[in-house]
Amino acid sequence: MIFRKSDGRPSWPSALIKVYIDIDGVLLRTGKNGPELIPQFRRVIRYLFANFDCYWLTTHVRHGSGSAGAVAKLAPHLRKARIDPTILDGIEPAEWETLKTEAIDFSRPFIWLDDDPLPTERQILEESGCADSLVDINWRRRATRLTVRRIKRIRRSILRGLENS
Ligand SMILES: [Mg+2]
Repeated sequence: MIFRKSDGRPSWPSALIKVYIDIDGVLLRTGKNGPELIPQFRRVIRYLFANFDCYWLTTHVRHGSGSAGAVAKLAPHLRKARIDPTILDGIEPAEWETLKTEAIDFSRPFIWLDDDPLPTERQILEESGCADSLVDINWRRRATRLTVRRIKRIRRSILRGLENS
């Protein structure tokens, strides 16, 4: 569905942009005592939920398993941080078997948050003209961490691209 502005130009409500969300290395990072929630976890999830159509794209959500695996993986961390697990409600499962790219809808604008896509997956993105949709997350470098600020900037540039296309 394409919405139009008063002057007839297509306008993409940001919720029409899909975000595919990995868990390990993206929402959980390696801390001193093993995996831990990222510092802006609550803000990031709320921001993604308010501005994108959200999907899990993680090894914890495979074909036929629904979102349960993602919720189970994060539950102990949420409990520790006293974050209500209902914050995850509404993030839909994206199901795949061999490659995460199987679950991506290439007909719609999207971003994919991942710390470790396979070379084959990167290649498929490139061949589909979607290399820019991959948001590489690397917690060891400040510029490549997952923050609301970074996602906001990326979302703005996607919206600009869509309006000009
Ligand atoms: Mg990962």
